[in-house]
Amino acid sequence: SRWQLDGRVVLVTGASSGLGHHFAHLVAGAGAKVVLAARRADKLEASVRQIAASGVQARAVALDVTSASSVKACFDALADWGAPDVVVNNAGITVTRPLLAQTEDDWDQVMDTNLKGCWLVATEAARRMVAAGKGGAIVNVASILGERVAGGVAPYAISKAGVVQATKAMALELARHRVRVNALLPGYIVTDLNREFMDSEAGEKLRARIPSRRFGALTDLDGPLLLLASDAGAAMSGACVAVDGGHL
Ligand code: NDP
Repeated sequence: SRWQLDGRVVLVTGASSGLGHHFAHLVAGAGAKVVLAARRADKLEASVRQIAASGVQARAVALDVTSASSVKACFDALADWGAPDVVVNNAGITVTRPLLAQTEDDWDQVMDTNLKGCWLVATEAARRMVAAGKGGAIVNVASILGERVAGGVAPYAISKAGVVQATKAMALELARHRVRVNALLPGYIVTDLNREFMDSEAGEKLRARIPSRRFGALTDLDGPLLLLASDAGAAMSGACVAVDGGHL
């Protein structure tokens, strides 16, 4: 089916936890050859073994998205599989502090990882896809906070707004090379890292503002991610797909 990724090389950044970990297993389930990347490559080995045991090829690569040389080295390391067909540009961090308590270092870390990191990975991926002449799909994981704001995460929201605009700029110039660039905008998704907060009183207040009155689950992202990654979404580029249970 057009939703399958059989034999496609899919690079997932930030694959060691949360959404990226989930995406790596999701695309493996759709038949992709998966490259899992993160700074702590040792944390990827269990997933690699699990995916390989299911009969799909997988490998781990160390990657720091804030460094252009690390990004190049990551693509070089998987060059024997060719240029990737799909890149899930997922690595990202959050610094939660009131606006006036956000430091220069907070700003730099968030921007370097979420915005510059997204840019470096997407442009290097596109360079390799164009050179290989085979097209491809890039999925930038932004956030609903790229289009709306919430308290305590100003640099984060600003970085994700940049990811949204970067997605559109890249889509425009890469379309003639058959490279599609789309953004996935998850709402509040429960993961191991935020489960405690989501269950707290503050989490309850947040949930009350979501029209569907429920936080998202990782599996809510499966259909939208596969749509943007596979031929099912072949005519989509520059799209921002929000998965948030209705506008916040
Ligand atoms: P996690 O903290 O669970 O995972 C982040 C991942 O990114 C880790 O694998 C981490 O691995 C990796 N990472 C961080 N910095 C770098 C770096 N410099 N280079 C390479 N990899 C890096 O976060 P989530 O899974 O929650 O978030 C994943 C993405 O989804 C982010 O872009 C986030 O903004 C977005 N998102 C999440 C939502 C949510 O509700 N959870 C909602 C909307 C968007 P390592 O430390 O080993 O490098």
